[in-house]
Amino acid sequence: MLKTDNTAYSTLAQEFNLLLDEPLKDYTSFKVGGPADLLALPKDKQELKTLLKKASDLDIPLTLFGGGTNLLVTEKGIRGLVVVTKRLKSKISITQTNSHGKTICIAAGERLSKICQFAINHCLSGLEFAAGIPGTIGGAIMMNAGTKSGDMSGIVESIDILNKKTLAFKTIEKNNLEFSYRRLNLADIIVAARLTLKEESQKTIKESFKHNLSKKNAAQPISSASAGCFFKNPKSGKSAGELIEKSGLKGMKIKDAMVSQRHANFIVNINDARCEDILLLKQQIQKIVFDKFHINLKTEVRVEGE
Ligand SMILES: Cc1cc2nc3c(=O)[nH]c(=O)nc-3n(C[C@H](O)[C@H](O)[C@H](O)COP(=O)(O)OP(=O)(O)OC[C@H]3O[C@@H](n4cnc5c(N)ncnc54)[C@H](O)[C@@H]3O)c2cc1C
Repeated sequence: MLKTDNTAYSTLAQEFNLLLDEPLKDYTSFKVGGPADLLALPKDKQELKTLLKKASDLDIPLTLFGGGTNLLVTEKGIRGLVVVTKRLKSKISITQTNSHGKTICIAAGERLSKICQFAINHCLSGLEFAAGIPGTIGGAIMMNAGTKSGDMSGIVESIDILNKKTLAFKTIEKNNLEFSYRRLNLADIIVAARLTLKEESQKTIKESFKHNLSKKNAAQPISSASAGCFFKNPKSGKSAGELIEKSGLKGMKIKDAMVSQRHANFIVNINDARCEDILLLKQQIQKIVFDKFHINLKTEVRVEGE
């Protein structure tokens, strides 16, 4: 709950016209979670920088949301300031053309689906793996989002960041980015990215997108409230989904949190699930899978809040 008696919070809220006690379930695809004390939707990187400078001067903690499609928020919500980056947008532009392909530049809050459409329209190949992945480009890079056929690390050329401590902008080239499976090791805020894509016939690109999208739609509960795959796939052997399915857990429920019948690695919110129901279900899945296979499933979804 908002510390209404907290002068620092009131000062920041008034100066930047922030939302107070804003329900975070409206900012996540899981549709779960309590309020943010303060919530901001900055429209450009300068506004973001000024806001963070003031928040830091006032010692107000910061949590970052992109599209909220990989996040689970606790019922108590998040103390301090939540910055949602999805309004950090600018025109997607082609900035460079060379023998390797074309580089496109995108602001961090742009939807991945819109970038995929841009790539199709401009006959640029490389993003086909991202067909149907929701969220923003900033979130996709932080999560190194991908599928078996590719991930963000394969196409990111460089990113522009805002350093959370110094509040300086800086460009980081791909060679200095530490990507691993569903993770980028980065403490900063991504404000823009450059992706290198290859020229290809539009027909080929379209077919590939269509193929990947129909495969995803057939295999995943994309219209249910979820945060995508809940667990990371183990390094070798069976996928998390296979392990959960082979443990007989499809359809297992705790109140309104359920293991999807369509894809066992999705926990879906079938109506009004609470964070604790989802976390309890997660623990039970981990225990049952461990007892059967001696494998510790690690969560891919990030849990935020008190
Ligand atoms: C139906 C469905 C299908 C999905 N399919 C896939 C899939 O096939 N493959 C896959 O990898 N994922 C998948 N996901 C998960 C999710 O869509 C991806 O991880 C996505 O890239 C997250 O982007 P986001 O903007 O929503 O990030 P968020 O969920 O908002 O944030 C994720 C993390 O990134 C951080 N972050 C966000 N923006 C920034 C920024 N600008 N700078 C620094 N940090 C930032 C956040 O603090 C958080 O820690 C799926 C999710 C759903 C709901």
